[in-house]
This record gives sequence, C-alpha cells and structure tokens, in this order.
Amino acid sequence: MSAPNKSYDPVEVEALKPEAIERMRDQALAAIAAAADLDALTHVKTAHTGGTSPLALANREIGALPPHAKADAGKRVGQARGAVNQALAARQTELEAERDARVLAEETVDVTLPYDRRPAGARHPLTTLSDRIEDIFVAMGYEVAEGPEIEAEWFNFDALNFPPDHPARGPQDTFFVQDTEDPAALEESGVVLRTHTSPVQVRSLVTRDLPVYVICPGRVYRPDALDATHTPVFHQVELLAVDEGLTMADLKGTLDHMVVSLFGEGMTTRLRPNHFPFTEPSAEMDMLCYVCRGESVGNPDRPCRTCASEGWIELGGCGMVNPKVLIACGVDPEKYSGFAFGFGIERMLMFRHNVEDMRDIVEGDVRFTLPFGMEI
Ligand SMILES: [Zn+2]
Repeated sequence: MSAPNKSYDPVEVEALKPEAIERMRDQALAAIAAAADLDALTHVKTAHTGGTSPLALANREIGALPPHAKADAGKRVGQARGAVNQALAARQTELEAERDARVLAEETVDVTLPYDRRPAGARHPLTTLSDRIEDIFVAMGYEVAEGPEIEAEWFNFDALNFPPDHPARGPQDTFFVQDTEDPAALEESGVVLRTHTSPVQVRSLVTRDLPVYVICPGRVYRPDALDATHTPVFHQVELLAVDEGLTMADLKGTLDHMVVSLFGEGMTTRLRPNHFPFTEPSAEMDMLCYVCRGESVGNPDRPCRTCASEGWIELGGCGMVNPKVLIACGVDPEKYSGFAFGFGIERMLMFRHNVEDMRDIVEGDVRFTLPFGMEI
C-alpha cells in the first residue's frame, strides 16, 4: 500500500528552507558590503538579484507550493530580497558619494601652486637694435620705408649711378636671380638679391612727394662665406633726406644725434673723404670710440682694444646724394639736395654689445639672445 502523498511542505523544498533563504541573503549582503566600487556593485547586483540569482530561483519555487505554504515561503523570500535590495541601494549611494569625493579631490586645481612656466624667450637683438635706431629717426620726423629683397638691377645699381662695368655688379659681389641653370643667362637676368637697402631710397624718391625723409632698414645679401666677421645675409639701415637747402652740416648733425642717442652724451662722429657712386661728395663716417672716448690716443698707459688706441671706430658710408641719382629719380638737383648714410646693423650690434663673432648673431641659439631680454 502506498503511502498517501505528503502535502507539499516548503521546509522540504531545499531552496525554500528558512536557513537556505538566510544563507542566500547573507551571501548577498556580504558580497554587497565587499563591493569596492560601482562596477563591482553592478556585478554583485546581477549575481544576487538577477533572473538566475539564488533568491530569484527560490522565488520561482513558491509558485509550486500548496496554497497554505505559499504565504510563509513568500514572506521569507520577500523579506530576504527586500533586505538585499535595500543593502544594494545603500551601498550604491555610499559608493557614489565616495566616487564624487574622489573626483573632487583628484581634479582639484590649486591656483596658488606655481605652474610649469614656459620661458618667454627674447627678441633677437638685431630686431631690437633696428627698432631702436628707427625710433631715433621717427622721433625726428622720418618715415620708415621698406622695399623688396629681390630687386631689379636698375633700382639696385643703375639708378644709384653704378656704371654697367662696376665691379660690385659682378657675381663675386652680387647674387643674381633667374629661373635657369645657364650661368650666362643668370647674369643677364636683371634681377638680384639686393646688395644694400639703397634701392629703397630710390623707390622712396620715385613714389613719394618731396621733401623725402626716410629711414630704410632691411635684410641684404652678398656672396660672402659665414665667418666671424662676414655673413652672406645681413642687415643695413640707410637714411635719406631730400629737401631744399640740405648741406653736409645737416648730415653731420644728424649723425652726431644718432650716436649720442645710441651711445650716450659726449659721443660724436667724424667724416673722412671716400668715394661712392651714389653720393658726391662721399665720406666714410667714424664714431668716437665708445669705450675710451678717444682718451687712448697717444696714451700708452691707457691702451684701448676696441679701437686699437685710434680713438675712432669705422661705422659706415655717407655723403650728399649724387645729382645723377636725383635726376634718375625725377628730382630737380637745381632745386633739391639731399644726404644719405648707411651702416650694417650687425656691426653696430657687435660694437654696442661686445659681440665678438658674427656667427653667434645668425645661429639662433637662445643662449645668445636671452641675455638681451625683452627690450621693446
Ligand atoms: Zn677706444
């Protein structure tokens, strides 16, 4: 005789035994407490409340229980799941707060800390000196004039009274520009890299109304190898004044004013006869030695290395504008006269700042430029 069917007792359904439910709940609570961050908590949540979690499976068993057993089992499982969900929510809040605090701490910017400062660099002393020279003349009413570095031979030579056979017009002294590989055609090109800034003077005379007072700073080119005293690319500043009644006294006064402005009170210049195609008369201009101020001359006790105890330093060329240049530029030499001078800015920089090697000026090493600072 077979025994009657036992009523379905939840106690005997393994997954619904009170201790089993408690164990599932405790495992879930322990895992929740152990979740170290929000990602870990997401995994814990799936494992302990997801569709295949022990408590979900247990919950599914309830449906198979006889009616009288359902309530008890349902209450136990419900309470366990409630406790797990509550713990999950609490841990979620806790971990979110921790994350927010950590982000705040990690992303805090202390505006009082010194920042990783990038060095500001320095202007190149050639630019600074060129600007300073321009300023001296702008203050006297001159305008700054600029022109092309690739120049027609006419502006660079012909208009300045260089005869066609002048040695400066040869390839030893001038870079010719031409889109050709034929060297003969090159010299016939009529186009050069300007060898001085004088063509800017010509252009100023041709394009401006008289009187003309211009200062022309700029880069010029000559086929020299780079060494301590030469560079194939250098900078000049030239000055041109054309007006009624200008004389060499005006030129001398202007030069003296410039050297006083650059080197201080007591400086002066002297002129020595010379010859240039574009000025007549022409002169070499010297300035008083800025180191010994001439006191080394005839004074063996105080020799001066800068001027070799000669008291003067050669600066550049100058003179009264040749009437032929005025005529070439359409200016009446009977009515107008003018003076001009020019010198190399590199050479002036070497004087003024005791730079001994021209290569330092062109090599672009910041250790050279930085000590000159940011004079503007
Ligand atoms: Zn000296």
